[in-house]
Amino acid sequence: MKNNIFGYTREKLANYFVSIGEKAFKATQVFEWLYIHKEKDFRKFSNIKKDIIEKLQKDFNNDFIKIEKVLEGVDVKKFLFRLLDGEKIEAVLMEHNYGLSVCVSSQVGCNMGCRFCESGRLKKVRNLDTYEIVEQILLIENYINKKINSIVVMGIGEPFDNYDNIIDFIKIINDAKGLAIGSRHITVSTCGLVPKIEDFSNLNLQVNLALSLHGATDEVRNKIMPVNKVYNVDTVIDSIKKYITKTNRRVTIEYVMLNMVNDYADDALALAKLLKGMNVYVNLIPYNETKAQEFKKSSKERITNFYNILKSKGINVTVRREFGGNIKAACGQLRSESD
Ligand code: SAH
Repeated sequence: MKNNIFGYTREKLANYFVSIGEKAFKATQVFEWLYIHKEKDFRKFSNIKKDIIEKLQKDFNNDFIKIEKVLEGVDVKKFLFRLLDGEKIEAVLMEHNYGLSVCVSSQVGCNMGCRFCESGRLKKVRNLDTYEIVEQILLIENYINKKINSIVVMGIGEPFDNYDNIIDFIKIINDAKGLAIGSRHITVSTCGLVPKIEDFSNLNLQVNLALSLHGATDEVRNKIMPVNKVYNVDTVIDSIKKYITKTNRRVTIEYVMLNMVNDYADDALALAKLLKGMNVYVNLIPYNETKAQEFKKSSKERITNFYNILKSKGINVTVRREFGGNIKAACGQLRSESD
């Protein structure tokens, strides 16, 4: 089967050219056509010799996933994509005052089973191929005819359960000859797959890492995140400490506010104690209620109280702006269907 060219990093493409006896810099020329000139028809690569173009046509395809539906809300658009095998995924475009950001999906379904998350109620069907992640961005940029400034890998799926493809995706969008999205503007969020956090720290990619913690003790986290039975709070926090030491980068700690589950004053105190002295900032996420209805959103007062306790203990903390609730485009509401 032919591989999709949009799944190739420049380095992999250079290796391909070398393997067929061509110069590695041809990969840069191809990247410029694909990502700068937005030309996907190999026959139009005018600075590349005909016999090489024929070889490209034989070895690669340039197929695109399709936009099936776009839902529009205030400062937000949700894109439903149909993949070439008929599976569906979603991505969300958000307009901030500092620019446009896109939240991409990394898998069809998800196996992590976080109890409060809609995406996790669908079992993982498969990993997304690298090109299927890259093309979410290309199609959205083309649809709005504007450049995307930042990317969060926080849609459907657990990115570190699709590690290799996510790394290639990051390399392609970060490449100066690719989509040229700065590493500081790329964030990967994980529910805490410790071995992959360690691998990630060795890559020196300079992108942002976010950890979905959501509970400061095993007692609380066990109730809502099955992954905690494998990598518990101490283990995951230890790996984050090592990550920070190695990369010297600040990590985001995500904490979804679930009414009377993890939003008590004691939870805030435990969280402050756990994170004390670490180079992190806590992002409190107002819970978006889902079909499961098992959890309720924390009240504004409970969120403010939690926030104030963290602040008073010297922890950097923000409350995430709520986006897209009315079109089911908010965190944890993405599914691979358009109901
Ligand atoms: N699997 C990755 C990325 C996807 S979720 C991860 O777990 O980090 C992105 C964030 O949204 C996670 O922090 C997730 O826990 C949170 N989230 C899930 N469901 C939510 C909901 N219903 N309301 C608010 N945030 C939610």
